[in-house]
Amino acid sequence: MLHTPHTPTPRPRAWSRRRFRAAALLASAVSVCLVAASAPPTPLGVGDRLFPHLGNPGYDVTAYDLSFTYSGDNSEPLKAVTTIDARTTADLDRVNLDFAHGKVDSVEVDGEPAGFAMAGEDLVVTPEDSLDEGDRTRITVRHSSDPVYAEDRQGGWVRTADGLAMANQADVAHLVFPCNDHPSDKARFTISVTAPDGLTAVANGLPTDVDQAGGATTWTYRTQHPMATELAQVSIGRSTVLHRTGPHGLPVRDVVPTKHRAALEPWLAKTPDQIAWMENKVGRYPFETYGLLMADATTGFELETQTLSLFERELFTEPAYPAWYVESIMVHELAHQWFGNSVSPGTWSDLWLNEGHATWYEALYAEETADRPMAARMKAAYGASDRWRTAGGPPAAPKPPKNGSKTGIFRSNVYDGAALVLYALRQEIGRPAFEGLERAWVTRHRDGTATTADFVRLASEISGRDLGDFFRGWLYGEKTPPMPGHPDWKPTATDQAPAAATGKAHGE
Ligand SMILES: [Zn+2]
Repeated sequence: MLHTPHTPTPRPRAWSRRRFRAAALLASAVSVCLVAASAPPTPLGVGDRLFPHLGNPGYDVTAYDLSFTYSGDNSEPLKAVTTIDARTTADLDRVNLDFAHGKVDSVEVDGEPAGFAMAGEDLVVTPEDSLDEGDRTRITVRHSSDPVYAEDRQGGWVRTADGLAMANQADVAHLVFPCNDHPSDKARFTISVTAPDGLTAVANGLPTDVDQAGGATTWTYRTQHPMATELAQVSIGRSTVLHRTGPHGLPVRDVVPTKHRAALEPWLAKTPDQIAWMENKVGRYPFETYGLLMADATTGFELETQTLSLFERELFTEPAYPAWYVESIMVHELAHQWFGNSVSPGTWSDLWLNEGHATWYEALYAEETADRPMAARMKAAYGASDRWRTAGGPPAAPKPPKNGSKTGIFRSNVYDGAALVLYALRQEIGRPAFEGLERAWVTRHRDGTATTADFVRLASEISGRDLGDFFRGWLYGEKTPPMPGHPDWKPTATDQAPAAATGKAHGE
C-alpha cells in the first residue's frame, strides 16, 4: 500500500485519533488550513499494524445506507448509492473514505455537491465548507460496484452460479462500497437491493420492506446492532428463504439455492440446537436473527457475516466431508457471532481472539457431540505450534499478509495455534474461572470492540491473579511455552494429527 509522510505511524486507533486531533488543532492555530486544503489528496489509515491503509481518522460512522441495483448479470457493475452518517472527531477539511475498484459519479456532503478525488485506495472528499469536530454529517456517494476483480486483488463480491454473495473479510469491503473499512468503526446498516423479479435478495439483519414495481423488486434489510464493514452480507440469487425458530423464539433464517433445498435441509435443521449449545456455554445469542447462506460457489472458505454466515454449498453436498466435521464448522461460524462480530477486534492483530475462540468452540462441540477429544487435537496443535509461529508469527503479533497470498493473515497460528492459547489458559486458571471469563468477555464487550490487552486484563481480573507474564509467552513468544499440566507435550517435526490439519482448510 502507498505510504506517505502524512500517514499516521502504526498505533492503536485511540492513539492515532488523538494524534490527529492534536495535529488539526496545531494546524488551525497557525492558519495553515487553507494550504493543507490545496495539497494533493493523500490516502490515510487508522494505523493498523497489518493493514496501515485501512480506516480513516477524524470521524466515526454511525450508520450506512447501502442501495444496490442489480441487472441480473453478475459480470456487470451494480449501480449503487452509499449514504454515510458520521460524527466528526476532529476538524476536517477533507474526509477520506476507503474505496477502490468502483467508479464514482458524484459525492454530496450534507446535501451539497462536494469535490472528490481518488488517492491510493481512498476516496478523498472535499466538502464546500469544512467540518468542525463534533459535527454530524451525511455523505452520499453515487458509484458503481463491480463484482469482477483482478486476479491479484480479489474483492468482496463472490459470483455464484445464480447471482452474488459477499465476503469482505478482512480488507475488501471498500472494493464494494465506500466506507471506513476497519472493524474498530462499527455502525448500523440499512441495505436495499433492487433485482429483477424471480431473484431474491437478502442482507444482514431483518427485512423492513419489499417493494415490487416494473418487473423488479426492492428488498430492504436493517441491522439492530452495530456491525463492522467486513461482516456485511448481500445475497442475490434464485434462492429460497427458509424460516425456523431458535431458542427463546429467535428467528432463524436460511438462504439456499432453491434447487438444492431438499439436500440442505437436514443440515439446516441442526442450527437451533447448535445455538442452544453455544448459549449454554457463553450466554444469550447476541443478535436479532441467525441463519446460513448457502452460496452456490467454490470459495474455499466459510465466513461469519453478521446474522447470516456464508457457506459453500459443496461443504454440505460433497459426501467426502464427515458429518462431525461439517457440524463443527457450522459451530465455528456460529461462535463468531459472539467472538468477532458482537465483540469485534480493535485491530487486525487481535484476530486470534476471533479465530482462537471460534476454533475453540468448534473443537469443544466435536468433543462433546462426536467423541473427538479436545486434548488430542490440542496435543497435535502443540506439536505444530512452534512451526506455525515461525511461519505466521506468534498468535497476537501475526506477520503481515504477503502480496498475492489467498491466505492473507488467516494462518494456523490464529486458528488451532490460538485455540491452544485458550487451552493453556484453561489449564492454568481452571475450568470455572475460564468459563466465567468467556461469559464475561462477550457480555462486557457486547456490540463493541476489544483488544488483546482487554482480554488479558479481564482474565487477570476474573482469575484474581496477574496473568501478564503467562500471556506474554503464549501470545507473543517466538517459541511455545510449556503446557501447564502436560509437561510431556513437545514440538514435533511434522504434523501428526490429520484432524487438526483439516480443521483449518475451512472456516475463516
Ligand atoms: Zn473463523
